[in-house]
Amino acid sequence: MVEAEAETDHEQAQGEGADAPAPPAPPVCQACGREQDRFPTGYRHWILLEPRIDPAAHGIPEGQRWVVGGDGMAVNWVGGRLPPTCRIAHRPVCGRSPRPEHLPRIFLAVWELNASYERRIYQQDALPFTSEAETSGGPGTQSSPARDPG
Ligand SMILES: [Zn+2]
Repeated sequence: MVEAEAETDHEQAQGEGADAPAPPAPPVCQACGREQDRFPTGYRHWILLEPRIDPAAHGIPEGQRWVVGGDGMAVNWVGGRLPPTCRIAHRPVCGRSPRPEHLPRIFLAVWELNASYERRIYQQDALPFTSEAETSGGPGTQSSPARDPG
């Protein structure tokens, strides 16, 4: 039964985005390669939390609220008394992840920022010497209406 529990833990970890590489591997996202804040979770996994983002906890849906305790462990905060602020996992807002349409605006905002880094890196790779050509805007930019239902 220990194996079954470990399997469940692993699935939980995957679902929460707590599938970061353990030390001594660098704390980088395996999708976008950018460094994140890495913390251990209570079930022998590691999670990458988005650096410098600590929104008000009441605006973050349950299951997405991460709180780093005094022991340095990250906890997916469910129930109980909400802390004033929390952290969010990197994975839902990774620039390589699909746009988090179903999540609150803060996730979309961070995702947009990360996706813009991705585009910048991609452009630098693809077009190393384009200082003369102004590439502001660009033909491929799709403007999707960023509206919150409700
Ligand atoms: Zn990433």
